[in-house]
Amino acid sequence: MIFFDRVSKVYPDQSVALENVTFTIEPKEFVSIVGPSGAGKTTLLKLFLAEEKPTGGSIFYDQTDVHTLGRKEINEFRRKVGMVFQDFRLLPNKTIYENIAFTMEAAGRTDEEIESDVPHVLELVDLLPKIWNFPRELSGGEKQRVAIARALVNEPDVIIADEPTGNLDPVNTYDIVQILKKINDLGTTVILTTHNKGIIDSLGHRVIAMERGKVIRDDKKGKYDV
Ligand code: ADP
Repeated sequence: MIFFDRVSKVYPDQSVALENVTFTIEPKEFVSIVGPSGAGKTTLLKLFLAEEKPTGGSIFYDQTDVHTLGRKEINEFRRKVGMVFQDFRLLPNKTIYENIAFTMEAAGRTDEEIESDVPHVLELVDLLPKIWNFPRELSGGEKQRVAIARALVNEPDVIIADEPTGNLDPVNTYDIVQILKKINDLGTTVILTTHNKGIIDSLGHRVIAMERGKVIRDDKKGKYDV
């Protein structure tokens, strides 16, 4: 369970990014976080991953306040969270296989695990035929599917997809959302940030709406706007 308990964040230049934000995300939920640019979505994700410290309040993962963890424990905690970004962040000089293998090596997985799990996750996102290609040889939608495979390969508890469809056309957007739904059905918590009203309305899942650092709405079966 993720618990934001009255969290505030004021940056050193006095920008107020979050103000008294409280919410809980249960295991296996699919939650979208929406709001205009500057609403505080990125700050919220950074605080959860302990990349920034809150000015007030606490952030818990299960029973643990993530901001009390030491460096080694933070790395272990971050491995429970798979990240997907708008700009894919694949390594351009590595094949698709190597991109995913690299993440597994960093997590200390064995060669045998790498050889068996990389094809397996690529199959899950329907990209096994591209295993020996380079990122530049893939479409935007395919690159994002690789990024999702990479985020999944170490079996995280949570996937955070930060504007994953921001660079994609409607057809690829639809595919990515279907894959995220499938991952969620398989038992992974999914947190999605998006500006795409169509996605939110079609998902019919929980929506946390933010504006100027505050949660202005938290709907169990959300719409982008009321
Ligand atoms: P969003 O992701 O919803 O666009 P952000 O979390 O990036 O929102 O930003 C929330 C507010 O915090 C904005 O006013 C932004 O200018 C400010 N902010 C974000 N990061 C920093 C930073 N490193 N230093 C100062 N202000 C920041």
